[in-house]
Amino acid sequence: MDCLFCRIIAREIPASVVYEDDRVLAFNDINPQAPTHVLVVPKRHIASLAELAAEDDAIVGEMVRRAAAIAESRGIAAGGYRTVFNTNRDAGQTVFHIHLHLLGGRAMHWPPG
Ligand code: AMP
Ligand code: ZN
Repeated sequence: MDCLFCRIIAREIPASVVYEDDRVLAFNDINPQAPTHVLVVPKRHIASLAELAAEDDAIVGEMVRRAAAIAESRGIAAGGYRTVFNTNRDAGQTVFHIHLHLLGGRAMHWPPG
């Protein structure tokens, strides 16, 4: 298996895990862009937002709600945070296992870079 995040899920590569259940894993980004920078991924491999099917609606909902719960637990929810799915080249997607970035703990800029 050559998917980096599948290897993290399988514990073949170490990660700083912040949440896990049967369907979702969340871990700290190795190159954080904010004081909180967590990646929320489904355990089942889905390459990107562009690959989502109707049967994936539930897992996407779990990812998004998990990001909100982690933000709440980090104490950054009231101040605010950003959630991002990068999709394909122009967005800078580098890992083709869908992941939701949770960024917070500092003021974010708009428009994003
Ligand atoms: P993206 O550019 O949206 O595909 O995001 C991929 C993210 O994965 C980047 O923010 C990387 O810093 C992060 N990343 C890459 N390798 C690892 C790793 N081994 N553990 C945790 N995060 C990683
Ligand atoms: Zn994968």
